[in-house]
Amino acid sequence: MTSILKHPVITSPSSEQREGIRQLTLNRIYATAIEQAGGIILATGRPRDEEEIRAIAELSDGLLLTGGSDVCPELYKEERRHCNNINRERDELEVALVKQMLRLGKPVLGICRGMQVMNVALGGSLYQDIMQEMPNAIEHDFHFDKKGVALPRDFRAHEVIIASETLLGSIFKTTTSAVNSLHHQGVKTLGKGFVASAHTSDGLVEAIELPGYSFVLGVEWHPEELGDESSKKIFQSFIDAARKTK
Ligand code: MN
Repeated sequence: MTSILKHPVITSPSSEQREGIRQLTLNRIYATAIEQAGGIILATGRPRDEEEIRAIAELSDGLLLTGGSDVCPELYKEERRHCNNINRERDELEVALVKQMLRLGKPVLGICRGMQVMNVALGGSLYQDIMQEMPNAIEHDFHFDKKGVALPRDFRAHEVIIASETLLGSIFKTTTSAVNSLHHQGVKTLGKGFVASAHTSDGLVEAIELPGYSFVLGVEWHPEELGDESSKKIFQSFIDAARKTK
């Protein structure tokens, strides 16, 4: 269906609810990263049923799941304890899209919350709040400094240790990288088939991927905000894989 287009079509179902207004929103910087890598980005609305979700997956060459609010813990069979701004409609759509894209063997890139959604889609669970639920965790929420002053979103907050024999390892070609960290939730148990391809010194999973697929990668940090060579290469590898599925 997308063969008339030269560039891979990347779908993103990003949405938020702000001050009671439901919005389809996508930070411009995600779109820029996709466009610079050669893709076309389309924001999706709200499909009415499974058939329409399948149709979106079929016309997409790749799925980008962006950052945002906390994933509804009922989707990983937990009670709500430390969650904010739950948007279950968005969660369920993204979970359904992940499953459809995997069924079709198409690429998925999940960033921050997006990685968490991928994990939950395959039966994994999350820390609802890392500081309150994970023993010996280092700080991962760098929205503000200790005085409450907003930090730049490209602030390199901590290092990640990258597993070399992985897709992420083949992108980075180094075993450590300093990255930004704008999250208070994280992966607790891995979804079925996922391997952790990066973690922090406290043991928290910072990247997940599905072996056997061309490109199914989630990163807990925000490469679109960093914009260095390795970050650009994440988007380039994603778009290259999407081009091959056309
Ligand atoms: Mn982190």
